Amino acid sequence: MRDVVLKPGRERSLRRRHPWVLSGSVADGGGEASPGEWVRVVSAEGEVLGFGHVSPASQIRVRMLYFGKEAPGDGLLVERIEAAVARRAGDPLLESTDAVRLVNAEGDGLPGLVVDRYGDTAVVRLSSAGMAARRDLLIRSLRSACGVSAGYERADAPAARREGVAPAEGAWWGAPPPERLTIHEGERSYAVNVLHGQKTGFYLDQRDARERVERLAQGRRVLDLFSYSGGFAVAAARGGAARVTLVESSADALDLARHNLEANAPDTDARFERSDAFRFVRGCEERFDLIVIDPPPLARRRNDVTRATRAYKDVLLFALHRAAPGARILCFSCSHHVGPDLFRKVCFGASLDAKRPLQVVGELGLPSDHPVALDHPEGRYLSGLDLLA
Ligand code: SAH
Repeated sequence: MRDVVLKPGRERSLRRRHPWVLSGSVADGGGEASPGEWVRVVSAEGEVLGFGHVSPASQIRVRMLYFGKEAPGDGLLVERIEAAVARRAGDPLLESTDAVRLVNAEGDGLPGLVVDRYGDTAVVRLSSAGMAARRDLLIRSLRSACGVSAGYERADAPAARREGVAPAEGAWWGAPPPERLTIHEGERSYAVNVLHGQKTGFYLDQRDARERVERLAQGRRVLDLFSYSGGFAVAAARGGAARVTLVESSADALDLARHNLEANAPDTDARFERSDAFRFVRGCEERFDLIVIDPPPLARRRNDVTRATRAYKDVLLFALHRAAPGARILCFSCSHHVGPDLFRKVCFGASLDAKRPLQVVGELGLPSDHPVALDHPEGRYLSGLDLLA
């Protein structure tokens, strides 16, 4: 096994069990290794810090899997997959759904591997050279651990480019999934397009917030900004909303949303707006009693933070102008760079500008199938607030 030797002083983050070794911290080694090989990571003084998978082309040069002195083998991945899947199966918080994230990358000690179960299909996404180099092992262990009849890999093209590996897509076992497969959350059902939809097809990470929306919706006029396939709008309709308005820029997403509303609450007064949500809230003159604001990640990099905070603030500010007295506003940032503290400040800025004092009545975040390792704070990417106007 090759050694990757760090520059002096660069072992500090590894002592805190942070799972990434950045290329700038490496003095020697790893560059000539083949993508995904196991490497031993050693401090400048020669102390063994742990073991991980090397990505010679990537800024994240090594993804650590084990902080010990003795080299682990691929069996470690199999054990962690089994543990992750078993934990979900025994989690009472996940009992009422058949759509669950089974493996959450670093959060489950498996950097580069995401597995989402949609009913009887597991959808896999690989984002590291280490995982891409072990497809056969992953197919075997996931097939046996997940107990579902089909496994399908969705390509992650940007990650493959970063990692210097070829993106791949297709069936791992069983039949390839249909264009629309149906999942269930409590009484709600959703058609999901795992072949072409966003992420692996659905925003599983918003499950807890959907539950909250269903409980709050009775009799309210609901605005679902950035609605995608109607996750929140369906929850609101099932919860007895007086009216739901969905705003989304993607036509395919809105088609799916229309289908989902029809399947769950066909009598709901629903309006589907294919438009830019920022522009929509500015021009809109209606009043709403429940507003969900769930934009895409506006700050993918640290450099985007200033622009992103302005955009988050703007959309909330205009939403507040549309909020009836006593309205609830559920708003989210899904950028790790705009975390809970900064997001609160952004919301406060909008509240001041709108001259609408707001109370925080709930803090929202990732559900229990999206665990975050304390060693890896970057894994906490979703921050949300439930605000009372
Ligand atoms: N709330 C959704 C997830 C939203 S993800 C759910 O729970 O399922 C963000 C969505 O915003 C994506 O569907 C994307 O297509 C859409 N989007 C991106 N930019 C937009 C814009 N400027 N106006 C409206 N929708 C936009």
